[in-house]
Amino acid sequence: MAYVRLSPGEFYRTVATEAAARRLVWRVKFGDKDFQCPECQNETFYEFENKPEIRKCRKCRRHVRLRAGTIFEHSKIPILIWVEGIFQCMQGSRGVSALELQRILKMPHYETTWVMLHKIREALRQRDLKYKLSKYIELDGATLSLA
Ligand SMILES: [Zn+2]
Repeated sequence: MAYVRLSPGEFYRTVATEAAARRLVWRVKFGDKDFQCPECQNETFYEFENKPEIRKCRKCRRHVRLRAGTIFEHSKIPILIWVEGIFQCMQGSRGVSALELQRILKMPHYETTWVMLHKIREALRQRDLKYKLSKYIELDGATLSLA
């Protein structure tokens, strides 16, 4: 199961906090599992209280970073903002402009929002080729991908 249909209301209830957005992205990253070690395939992990974006394999001790191999990599923008940005990009058939996205997400800088929007659009184009995340959330006939 890598496919969830959510209305905007359901989306905002389901993904209302940074922790919820992280949980969603972890599951997307591992194909609807909470964890799968890329080294040894083990599915149990440790979490760090102060580093919620890292999980550690219980078997081989490898650290796995939430953002590694995703469009969120090297970004300091919270995961929740990213996920909301992806959601917004898939609303309606016209898509969203950087200016609209900046206003909706309350982003302080247009340039940051523009870069974010273009990463999302590029990921939507190449979702399975370049990035590891490949879950689709269908919204009002549009397909939202976190890839
Ligand atoms: Zn491992």
